[in-house]
Amino acid sequence: MQFRTPTGVITPVDGLGFTVAPGETLAVLGESGSGKSVTAQALMGLLPRPAGRVTGGRICYDGVDLLGLPPAEVRRLRGPEMAMVFQDPLSSLNPVFRVGAQIGEMFRRHRGASRREARAAAIDLMKRVGIPDAATRVDDYPHQFSGGMRQRVMIAMAIALNPRLLIADEPTTALDVTVQAQVMALLAGLQREYGMAMVLITHDLGVVADVADRMLLVYAGRAAETGRIREVYDRPAHPYTAGLMASLPGDQERLTPIPGAPPNLAALPPGCAFHPRCPYAIDRCRDERPLLHALPGAGRAAACHRAQEVLDGA
Ligand code: SF4
Repeated sequence: MQFRTPTGVITPVDGLGFTVAPGETLAVLGESGSGKSVTAQALMGLLPRPAGRVTGGRICYDGVDLLGLPPAEVRRLRGPEMAMVFQDPLSSLNPVFRVGAQIGEMFRRHRGASRREARAAAIDLMKRVGIPDAATRVDDYPHQFSGGMRQRVMIAMAIALNPRLLIADEPTTALDVTVQAQVMALLAGLQREYGMAMVLITHDLGVVADVADRMLLVYAGRAAETGRIREVYDRPAHPYTAGLMASLPGDQERLTPIPGAPPNLAALPPGCAFHPRCPYAIDRCRDERPLLHALPGAGRAAACHRAQEVLDGA
């Protein structure tokens, strides 16, 4: 994928591959600017045009490559097949329409529902996502809701048409810790109830630990490590994963932040993009880009020349 910027063309995502099955939750993790969110936009056909474009690869949904479909066909899939929850519901909801009308619009547009039917369906959905007093609040405007309740409205819109794939992009980042946990629990409950495939994009390892089945850690737009979340958390194979784990609040007395900052995507370091920050770096890392390679464990893989040593705690 490439973006045209005032300072030249950048490649925010390069060779990033993953799959997600019905009923499964995949967490796509990485620091801000790692390419997670543009990946989600690409999946949904929502890359900002004309600056951004997918320059290679495939985005397969149910065996069909979405990159080969006309934009109108991809738009038709959004809602009934694939839906997305964004980080900031206030900028995703229309401030001048009542929330009930915005939720109900999904039923009017895709199911041909009458105004009355759409309103009843909106109230039902608002109850289902835990908005108290839904029959009254259906007539409120977005600014009359708290951040957590607005996110519930967004989730109601996303699940309105029973999508088979839900992409949640930093769905709890703007919320305080208690509300974060409630929204994550809601998403996890709905995912189980509907049997959806869910891609959960976040920078926060702590948020997804109890919710996701598998994880993909992204660094500088490239896959760093992937595997079942418990296995990766218990024994990371990539120094970046290990560094993130050490910087998580937990039992340890002192948190150890990863030194340095994520690289400029317009000027990635040669070899392994993580090498300037990596305590395991050797000469080879500066010259040779590590490719994702399989490790012991179901679906386990890492892009690191020293993965086995990291895994062994060397
Ligand atoms: Fe560190 Fe080298 Fe592994 Fe990159 S390839 S993460 S620099 S050890």
